[in-house]
Amino acid sequence: MTTKSVRLLPCPFCGSPAEYQGWHGGAPTKVMVSCSDETCAVRPEVTGETLEEGAEAWNRRDAVTGDMLAALRQAYLSLECRPELRRTAGIVASAIEKAEGRL
Ligand SMILES: [Zn+2]
Repeated sequence: MTTKSVRLLPCPFCGSPAEYQGWHGGAPTKVMVSCSDETCAVRPEVTGETLEEGAEAWNRRDAVTGDMLAALRQAYLSLECRPELRRTAGIVASAIEKAEGRL
């Protein structure tokens, strides 16, 4: 199996592509996955014994549930009708879009 056959999700913090890194931690050799953007504020990295383990660890995300999405939609409806809270409503709308993409 090559590294290209294991799909990696983008960095959860900055959205940049993830990449496999060469292992420099000594024996035993492991697989390391990290954010490819050197300017990423978090630069997360994970390791695994195999490519599959590394990819699984990297691709693990907190689950979005239908209840969470319903709560966000309710919050948006409460905010959008108040002109002084339009900016906050926009932030919630953006969160809804992201959450819908993860369901
Ligand atoms: Zn990043």
